[in-house]
Amino acid sequence: MKASVFRGPESELAVEDVEVSAVGPRELLVQTAAAGLCHSDLYHLRGVFELPMPTVLGHESAGVVVEVGSDVTDFAPGDHVITCLAPFCGKCSLCLTGRSYLCAGQHSVRAAGEPPRLHQGTTEVHQFLNVSSFAEQLLVHETAAVRIKSEMPLDLAALIGCGVTTGLGAVLNKARVAPGDTVAVIGCGGIGLSAVQGARIAGASRIIAVDLNANKLETARTMGATDIVDGSQLEDGDVAAAIRDLTSGGVDHAIEAVGSAMTATASVEALGIGGTSTIVGLMPSGKTFPVQGRLLLDDRRIQGAYMGAMNFRMAMPRYVDMYLDGRLLLDEMVSSRIELDGIGASFRAMEAGDTLRDVVVF
Ligand SMILES: [Zn+2]
Ligand SMILES: [Zn+2]
Repeated sequence: MKASVFRGPESELAVEDVEVSAVGPRELLVQTAAAGLCHSDLYHLRGVFELPMPTVLGHESAGVVVEVGSDVTDFAPGDHVITCLAPFCGKCSLCLTGRSYLCAGQHSVRAAGEPPRLHQGTTEVHQFLNVSSFAEQLLVHETAAVRIKSEMPLDLAALIGCGVTTGLGAVLNKARVAPGDTVAVIGCGGIGLSAVQGARIAGASRIIAVDLNANKLETARTMGATDIVDGSQLEDGDVAAAIRDLTSGGVDHAIEAVGSAMTATASVEALGIGGTSTIVGLMPSGKTFPVQGRLLLDDRRIQGAYMGAMNFRMAMPRYVDMYLDGRLLLDEMVSSRIELDGIGASFRAMEAGDTLRDVVVF
């Protein structure tokens, strides 16, 4: 099969032939239909986080099952599925206390000594997050996939595989925004726009979208933002003050979807008394951000939210239904449909802040 192979931050991505191993007992072979480009791919592409080489990046995908392992009973060839980077073992303390989205997923990795899932001759090609979506086929553990309705368009289903689930879930399952709450969403890429939609679906009374890009802010408005703050137009650049001014003292919830120290600090300073900041932006290891301790005295909280804070087998089919009944807008989130050899250029556009979600369509 063809795959986009990553050989290090210094080299360009190249489409190469990669071999797929025989399907293991608890594995699925999936024909990839679509794969979204996510910011965490970009971080790895630029070497912010180190990876074994060579690797096939990508972790946000949907496709059709072509073969199932001998022990698989929940899937059959022809099933439409979304993959997920959060497989769950069902046995660890996190799985057994309702937080299976945090499972370490060791069960889903092939044991040392087994042949690698992807290879070129005798050389292992490493899987990224046990998914590796930038490839014509996906060989994944069965607990890294969920079956979805076949009427769901697969190019849009792919977006649910990471960004949409992360943003919607942060609002609905972790922040638990209640009807009438005020919400600020800082950063309006794929995750932020999903958070804006989550706030609308939850019945928030005010949804303040913040970004530096006027086009993204306009899209946020069509997805439910009631107010927009263009950080590039603020004289003092004080996003938190602008949010407090709009809400007479601060919001009930801030969702940080950028991953920078400045926006993380702003997400706390934008809170009203008793407010909660939910941070979903990915920060490089070692990165810290300052918070005035005084703010926490008034019951403000800071929390993270990983992978939508709900088991994806529960969450993703719900989000598919929300799309099919018109409550979740996904078509508007796709900035370009590209081919496998267009990924490098798309990541450069993402770096420049020009894209919402680019999707590789196979
Ligand atoms: Zn992602
Ligand atoms: Zn587990």
